[in-house]
Order: sequence, then structure tokens, then C-alpha cells
Amino acid sequence: MADERVKIHLDDYNKPVICEVCGGHMIFKGVGEYQCEKCNHLEYDDYGKVRNYIETHPLARKMYDVEMGTGVSRKVIRQLLREERIEVAPDSSVFLKCEVCGRDIRAGRYCPACAQKIQAREDLERARNSKHSALHGFGQHDRQEDGEKRFRRER
Ligand SMILES: [Zn+2]
Ligand SMILES: [Zn+2]
Repeated sequence: MADERVKIHLDDYNKPVICEVCGGHMIFKGVGEYQCEKCNHLEYDDYGKVRNYIETHPLARKMYDVEMGTGVSRKVIRQLLREERIEVAPDSSVFLKCEVCGRDIRAGRYCPACAQKIQAREDLERARNSKHSALHGFGQHDRQEDGEKRFRRER
């Protein structure tokens, strides 16, 4: 229930609509950046704030630092990382844990090793399923023929 509310709230990442300097409309410029159409004042949504912070603070190692530096809640930061919209520096990989093995990762849900394993398992499953259905169809055909022969012989 609570999770659902967070997701809905996260959809727009607190994007600025009205310029806080002159009250003009904020126009989306890309990567979380918005510019006032009247005074050119720049503002950022949560994604832009986190992205900027990580870019300007490549040594940020703790979720807490990013949270304090941007004012964006930990939940939103984690959501951005999960959606792979932001990625932390290679040496500050303490923000997320792989859902399978718990190793530190930079973005997404799994570490590269587990992602590979999951992919391989899915491929195998898919291959097995298509092979299985082909064999199944063939076997059925055989049995039907056998039954027919047996039927004729019995007569
Ligand atoms: Zn303005
Ligand atoms: Zn893993």
C-alpha cells in the first residue's frame, strides 16, 4: 500500500512547473533540467538533482551524503538507481545491493555475474520449452500411428 503511493509520487520526480524567481513556466530541457521561459532560471527535478550531485561529487560514498546534498529522499534515490536512470561512480558502489547475492552494485537490480546467470537460466528455459513442445508433438504422432496399426492388426 505504502509502496504503491511512493511509486505514483515518484512518477514526476517533483518536477518544477513554476519558476520560483519570476513565476514563469519551467520548460523541460532534458536530463532532469528545466529552464524558465522568461528569466532563464534553471531548476532540477529529483532526478536532475541526484544526477548533478553524483557528477559533481564523484567521491560520494554514502546514500546519506547524496540525501543530505540534494534534499532528495533515500527512497527516490534508490528508485532512480533501480530504474537505471542514474549510476554512481565505480568506486562508490555502496548504494545498492544485488538482489541475489547482496554484492554492491552501481545500478539496476543484479550484479553482472548474477544478471548473466539469470539470463543464461532464462535462455535455457526457453530452449528447453521449445525443444519439449517439439518432442511432445512428435511423440503424440508416433503413438497415434502405433494405436492405429494395433487396431488394424486386431481386426
Ligand atoms: Zn523565471
Ligand atoms: Zn549478485
